[in-house]
Amino acid sequence: MPVQAPPPFPLPAPRTVRCPTCGAPVEWTAASRWRPFCSERCRTVDLGAWASERYRVPVVERDDDEDAATGGGDPPSRPG
Ligand SMILES: [Zn+2]
Repeated sequence: MPVQAPPPFPLPAPRTVRCPTCGAPVEWTAASRWRPFCSERCRTVDLGAWASERYRVPVVERDDDEDAATGGGDPPSRPG
């Protein structure tokens, strides 16, 4: 009695992505809460890196010595 094997149809494999932070494979499913990150930690790390990049602005030093050269008039008289 011959046994017929089931046809080898391709299984719908879940789409897997790589965690941008550590490179771990993450299944792109509803179960992966922190996708495309593998965990909350990796997500926080990535966001932290972005925040530090955004806040890293060049510090401009201002010279306020011009403030002393302005004015020189009479002080405003104020009522008694
Ligand atoms: Zn990760």
